[in-house]
Parts: sequence; C-alpha cells; structure tokens
Amino acid sequence: MAPLTRALLGLTLLAASSCAVPAPTSRASVSPDPGPAWRMLGVSREGRPLRAMELGAGGPRVAVIAGIHGTEQEGLRHVPELIATLDELPATITLYEDVNPDGSARARRGTVSGVDPNRNWPATNFAPAPSRGPRPLSEPGVAHVYRDLLRFDPELVVVLHSTARGPFVNFDGPAEGHAWRFTEGAGPPWFVKPSMGYATPGSLGSWMGLDRGRPILTVEFRRGAPPGETGPPLLRGLRALIEEGPLDEPRPRVR
Ligand SMILES: [Zn+2]
Repeated sequence: MAPLTRALLGLTLLAASSCAVPAPTSRASVSPDPGPAWRMLGVSREGRPLRAMELGAGGPRVAVIAGIHGTEQEGLRHVPELIATLDELPATITLYEDVNPDGSARARRGTVSGVDPNRNWPATNFAPAPSRGPRPLSEPGVAHVYRDLLRFDPELVVVLHSTARGPFVNFDGPAEGHAWRFTEGAGPPWFVKPSMGYATPGSLGSWMGLDRGRPILTVEFRRGAPPGETGPPLLRGLRALIEEGPLDEPRPRVR
C-alpha cells in the first residue's frame, strides 16, 4: 500500500479509536499493518492539530519540521513525498507537520497572537516582545512541538522555510558539514549561508543549535518556486544528509 494511503488509513483508525462509539466486533476490515500514522501532539490556539509521524529504517535520530511560518508553504506541499522518502532512509525520523497550522490556514507568517513561531523558543537569548511572545512557549504549537523534541532528543534537526533570497541552507550549532552535504545533494543553485545577517533571539536554531549543541539546518526554498523546483532538491538533499551517516566535523566544500 502506498505510504500516503497507509498514513491516511492510520489517521482514520486513530480518529476512530478516540471516538466514544464502541468499536465494531468484527475486525475483518482492519489492515494488520496500517503503516506510519500521524500522532497527535496537541492542538493550536484555534484547535487545529499539531501532528508528527515516526518514519525511517532505524539509526540516528533526525527531526524534520515541514512548516513553521504560515506564509512559507513550499515544504508542506511535499509532505506526501517526504513520508515516502524518509521512511526508506537509515535513520530514526520524526516528521513534524506544521508548528503553526493556524498561520498556514490564514496565510499569515505568525500565530493568531501575532507571535513569530520561530522566536518563541526557550533559548537563552529569548527576550519578550510582541513579535516574540511574553514568554517562551507562549504559543501552543511551539509548546507541543518543543515537548516532543525534548522527548525525541534528535541528533539532527531540519526545518523547512522559504525566502525571496533562496534557495540556500543556514545552520546553527555544529552543522556546517551537514549544510554542505545537503547543498551538494540538492545541487546548484543551492548554497550554504552561514549567517542570516540578522539576530534571531528565541529562534529554534538558537535553542537547539546554540544552547543544546545539536546540529540544525534551516532550509530556505525560493519563495513561490513551483513544486518541481523545490521537491526534487529537497529529497536529494535529505538523502545525501542522512544516507552518508552521522557527521561530526565540518566538511569543506569540494567543488
Ligand atoms: Zn521562515
């Protein structure tokens, strides 16, 4: 069965199992292997689900976050291909769907409170502001994903964004070698951009990369690029990143 079909079936079963209606006595129609299914982490302020899925053939723990800024849907539209591809790779992978589903539904970068979900993490450089929230984790979506990341304790994190200046890969923590590896897999015109050029207090990269010392890549597609320009390089980059195994030291660019 195709992974997406299995995932949808799994979600249907998950929804059915949480329903108050008694389960039917016959199980004949239930597949013995529904495959990977979405797991509910909680709900957003407007009640939308925060979801994650366990994938991969086993190995280092890798977290992939398909969306965080509501106006950057380039990664989210590739979730079906991500599920199929990540499930084959030699890693223990958690795919997080969308940190900011309310923003995605409203085509708004931030949350319904006007907070940037990539400035609301409990990094040591967090400072309260209307755009960053009164305190870390004030946004339910961020708080749910944060708790699950603590539980999962990924050894590598990849987050999908988009910008008019893309496509490139930015990184925090000991991730320079990972960034080169992703861009080499993705191919031209992808490049490594070591600094965004502005401060990012309270960002996921600050918390995970700088405070926890875990490599984290910020993958920036070209904003508005058609799916054919974003999907294939993304999947090639992830394959290159994960199939070659863990990478502790920065690796210089070869070409
Ligand atoms: Zn972004």
